[in-house]
Amino acid sequence: LAWIGVDLGGTKLQGAVVDVRGGDVDVLRGGRRPTPPGEPAAVVQTITELVHELGGLDDVVAVGVGAPGAVDHRTGTVLQAPNLGWSDPVPLGEMLADALGATVVVDNDVNAGTVAEHHQGSGRGLRDLLVVFWGTGVGGGLVLDGRLRRGPAGYAGEIGHTVVRDGGRPCGCGHRGHVESYAGRAGLEREARLRHAQGEPTALVELAGSGRMRSRIFARALDMGDAVAIALLDEAVAALGAGIASAVTLLDLDAVVLGGGLGDRLGAAMVGRVEESVRSRLFASSSALRVRPASLGDLSGALGAAIVAHDALADRVHVPR
Ligand SMILES: [Zn+2]
Repeated sequence: LAWIGVDLGGTKLQGAVVDVRGGDVDVLRGGRRPTPPGEPAAVVQTITELVHELGGLDDVVAVGVGAPGAVDHRTGTVLQAPNLGWSDPVPLGEMLADALGATVVVDNDVNAGTVAEHHQGSGRGLRDLLVVFWGTGVGGGLVLDGRLRRGPAGYAGEIGHTVVRDGGRPCGCGHRGHVESYAGRAGLEREARLRHAQGEPTALVELAGSGRMRSRIFARALDMGDAVAIALLDEAVAALGAGIASAVTLLDLDAVVLGGGLGDRLGAAMVGRVEESVRSRLFASSSALRVRPASLGDLSGALGAAIVAHDALADRVHVPR
């Protein structure tokens, strides 16, 4: 028996066939496709094709999907997903269940990634954990007492939208001074282009041209000793340090996992710098806090979506009738 997990990203769909048995999780097969732009029906069609490409639904118990944005995991409805251009609620779980003739569980992609790192990655075996995905935005998920903490509105763990400088730089969410404003790849790109235009030339803009300033471009510019890249990453590390330190003190955590596109690309040395940045701001200087690099990379979303589907069905079985 297997579960299929699908990570629905703004640019690509990553799928995995996963054997979830007891404590161990094995990825049996994987595949990916570009995310089609536009209507939800096109996404449903592409996921259906991906599921068949992965070997179809024989022996598959359920399909889990991790979707970006706000998701009601109980109904499988994507409430809004700016990365997909969906501003109105989309009953993605229902649409996919109809198209596939299978049980489908939809959850937020960051929750799925958090569950994966907790179950099978760098957070394995830990009871309390904050997982931070440092990429285009800054996402986060929280495990407390061994279980994913969602909160009544579903945004527990959203470290990227905690305030590190009141009234500071604008954030993609419409507010100001959030961790993501200073650390998210999109915020860094905006700031680099601004400084370049104001007469501070930077290799970041020269390497990216008019294209997206990808994580590897930040890594290259740092290697080249680019002054703007160094200054922006210093600010990013400080913002992550301040946000994570506040969370660690509030919740008394001793472990944080740091991954995501930028976290993975800038590597263990940068994760070490973030750990130092957190540590220097902690209330309890004796804290045993460790910040560990994430270990599942790109696969964490798909793997986590399969585990979330597995756990949702297991929970349902335990509901007294
Ligand atoms: Zn924000």
